[in-house]
Amino acid sequence: MAQSTGSGESDAEFILSLNAGSSSLKFSLYKAAREPDEIAVGQVESLGPNARFKARIGPQQVEDNLGSADHHVALQAILEQCETVLQGKAPACIGHRIAHGGVDYEGPQLLTPQVMEKLALLEPLAPLHQPHNLAAVRASVEAFPDALQIGCFDTAFHRSHPWVNDTFGLPLKYYDRGVRRYGFHGLSYEYITGTLARIDPELASGRVVIAHLGNGASMCGVLNGRSIASTMGFSALDGLPMGTRCGQLDPGVVLYLMDQEGLSAHELTKLLYNESGLKGLSDETNDMRTLEASQRPEAEMAIEYYTFRARRELGALAASLHGIDGVVFCGGIGENSATIRARICNGMDWMGITLDGRANMANEMSIGLGRTKVLVIPTDEERIIARAASRALDQLAATES
Ligand code: ADP
Repeated sequence: MAQSTGSGESDAEFILSLNAGSSSLKFSLYKAAREPDEIAVGQVESLGPNARFKARIGPQQVEDNLGSADHHVALQAILEQCETVLQGKAPACIGHRIAHGGVDYEGPQLLTPQVMEKLALLEPLAPLHQPHNLAAVRASVEAFPDALQIGCFDTAFHRSHPWVNDTFGLPLKYYDRGVRRYGFHGLSYEYITGTLARIDPELASGRVVIAHLGNGASMCGVLNGRSIASTMGFSALDGLPMGTRCGQLDPGVVLYLMDQEGLSAHELTKLLYNESGLKGLSDETNDMRTLEASQRPEAEMAIEYYTFRARRELGALAASLHGIDGVVFCGGIGENSATIRARICNGMDWMGITLDGRANMANEMSIGLGRTKVLVIPTDEERIIARAASRALDQLAATES
């Protein structure tokens, strides 16, 4: 096996990062190196009867209608389209984003049949993500039987939670049975803490709240680079309201909806995961950009609820950290919406959070004026997967030599 020691080598190996959702298969292709070199990025979107391929491959923008596509067909399309850069070589390692690693996995794992069996048992804990993540792994094993298959888990970063932030106020036996606050978006938090250690080591060693605000959204309290608490809990429903998910909800509401309104578990799942959050409150869309542009009062109400809950959680996480030295915004909304950042930070001067209006509007990296630093850092979950894959290739090369 060739050594993965640097980008641009003609014998460099390829790494494919896959992030499979219910309706899309996102990918990034890299040349293996300690800092992997991205050479293509894109996705197959609208999996189903009218799937589309969209990517940047080398310098080229490529788009194609695929017709009917599941994860298998999508993967084949990615390979065919990337042939211009792969030139007959198959990826040596495929890294998969996997939502749930349960209590056991604190880092990337080789996806053996035994590990896959354990991960399949976790499907009920992340029904929107885990089945699709595992479907992509199976498609990938079939397409690349000789490649290493590595799983990187969104829960892994949070295994450092102290017990008190890992449990619910239920009888202890449920904790032992795995009913815990797992936390998600860990690959994003790992990327941000790593970047922070490089660009601001002093802040990285302090108390930081990271706000990952995308379609899914959560916040994480990080102390010296380690997760102390997260707004997401047992499932990816808790905490902040999201595009279509409700965020924090009194469990009594669920009991009421079952008992009094006769909703089944299936109907509740649909309501809480797909029809709530920004979409439910606005009765229009889960898309923040559209809501910001809308004149409808319901759109404004959805934004008001979103930013209010984010501010509450920011305060709660600062309390969990016994203070705060910095806030980092990331994710599609966190990285791009100056208005949402300003509304979340509004009235937080007591916590040392004061925005520089000009820097915020200009989407600059450092947007705070107060004693608490406020940063905007674009996240890159695929790169975390690629780094893990590169390390796995190096380990394999070391054991083979
Ligand atoms: P996902 O969780 O699916 O990866 P993203 O991180 O891409 O989602 O975030 C998608 C969200 O980011 C959408 O609500 C979208 O409207 C929002 N967004 C992207 N750009 C902007 C912008 N310039 N202003 C406001 N919201 C934006």
